[in-house]
Amino acid sequence: MTERYDYVIVGGGSAGSVLANRLSADPGATVLVLEAGRFDTRFDPLIHMPAALPYPIGNPLYDWRYASEPEPHLGGRRIDHARGKLLGGSSSINGMIFQRGNPMDYERWAAEPGMAAWDHAHCLPYFKRMETCTVGADAWRGGSGPLVLERGPATSPLFGAFFEAVQQAGHHLTDDVNGYRQEGFAKFDRNIHRGRRLSASRAYLHPVLRRPNLTVRTLTMVTGLRTTRAATGPRVTGVDYVRGTRRHHVRASVEAGEVLVCGGAINSPQLLQLAGIGDPALLEPLGIEVLAALPGVGANLQDHLEVYLQHACRQPVSIAPWLRHRHKPRIGLEWLLGRRGVGASNHFEAGGFVRANDDVAYPNMMVHFLPIAIRYDGSRPAADHGYQVHIGPMYSDVVGPLAIRSRDPFTHPALRFNYLSTATDRREWVEMVRAARHVLGQPAFAPFSAGAVRTAKFCRKLGSTRTVFAPPEVPTSSAYTGMRSIPIGDLPGSSRM
Ligand SMILES: Cc1cc2nc3c(=O)[nH]c(=O)nc-3n(C[C@H](O)[C@H](O)[C@H](O)COP(=O)(O)OP(=O)(O)OC[C@H]3O[C@@H](n4cnc5c(N)ncnc54)[C@H](O)[C@@H]3O)c2cc1C
Repeated sequence: MTERYDYVIVGGGSAGSVLANRLSADPGATVLVLEAGRFDTRFDPLIHMPAALPYPIGNPLYDWRYASEPEPHLGGRRIDHARGKLLGGSSSINGMIFQRGNPMDYERWAAEPGMAAWDHAHCLPYFKRMETCTVGADAWRGGSGPLVLERGPATSPLFGAFFEAVQQAGHHLTDDVNGYRQEGFAKFDRNIHRGRRLSASRAYLHPVLRRPNLTVRTLTMVTGLRTTRAATGPRVTGVDYVRGTRRHHVRASVEAGEVLVCGGAINSPQLLQLAGIGDPALLEPLGIEVLAALPGVGANLQDHLEVYLQHACRQPVSIAPWLRHRHKPRIGLEWLLGRRGVGASNHFEAGGFVRANDDVAYPNMMVHFLPIAIRYDGSRPAADHGYQVHIGPMYSDVVGPLAIRSRDPFTHPALRFNYLSTATDRREWVEMVRAARHVLGQPAFAPFSAGAVRTAKFCRKLGSTRTVFAPPEVPTSSAYTGMRSIPIGDLPGSSRM
């Protein structure tokens, strides 16, 4: 007999964990979470030690390891695209910076037809309900939510120089980039609690795992949505899944009152397309019967590049020496015994939001500062002692397609992000690099800087049609500071996702 649940949640990642908690709070509702990846055991330091964040990235035990198609405006480079594949999803492998969107983002959404309830006044109570801000609750911040947010200590002399430099460059400090005023520079909130990563699953799912009405299955890949054509239109009635390892697995189905597709920015549209919900021009040649002709599914893939501007440091004050193998046992021991030391921080402890030109009404650029010069994946420190500023656009207007290649749910879809494909995106990059260099060139950094590393050719190349981003400086991730509502078609009652 086929199992039945009131709610089946596809993906136990960030969204899936929150929904599982909230929906199973009703003891009358049965909730099933199906997660393709592993259980996020508490004994795995690569997830829970904040400073270990580079290790899961690119590792098949934690990461779906997507890569883009050759990017036409990046000289044909393929860009790696990490996505968490375990309980907690990407929140189990991400950089742990907690950042709300700018209040004006929500006002912008609310101005779109049918989106009135997304204005800031409506969203704010949900943000507050979500968080326990350890520096204190106020009109803007919550004090009793599941997500405990610790503020970066940012005590290194390099952070001191950074805060001084941004002011010398004409920016101001702000009390809280998630509070009354986002614009400016401040210490960042982090999803770290008592020296451990606090992923969405740890904050929302683990505390309620014993609820009798909640079932969580890991290593369980949803391979298809079960659908029917009701009188009112197409309906999703359940899911098919494969559970277990490649060698030993079972195939099964489950019926659902409602299916909540929480597979993330790549897997969710993939699953919809496989189910015949998408663009007929894509689906029909693959032999997939069109259930709902919605060309918007997968058509608005959005991401932004990030660039590091790195400087070598003439004083021995960066955290670079800690990367040496001989120091790792000490870092591990300090963290294991007391959740202290270098291992207990993500080191993205401060940064800010600025307008990179005078035309925008609110910040279009996010900056974070790191007291080491290194790649995001932890490899290849760029200098013995160093520091770097990360910059990224908040509102890049580039979009690209996501398209399944076959009917096989295990085959990754084709992704093309079209980075740097618009004049606005290219112009903003030039402005952002200039703004960041302006900060790095301020007198406050004079006692520390031993010169820029590896960024010299960047600006010259930008704007040329043969722009090539140097691989070591540019990782990608979803734009995590905001969401853009995207029309996907004319589904009754819900035309946006
Ligand atoms: C390297 C990296 C660094 C980042 N840094 C930050 C940061 O510092 N701050 C920040 O706010 N954001 C950051 N982000 C972005 C943020 O983590 C994501 O935007 C967010 O976690 C996405 O949540 P989600 O619920 O949409 O997807 P996810 O959290 O990715 O969850 C999707 C889940 O669904 C599962 N799944 C997918 N398909 C199936 C299927 N068919 N069957 C079963 N399960 C399935 C996946 O395994 C995964 O667990 C970062 C992301 C990455 C990858």
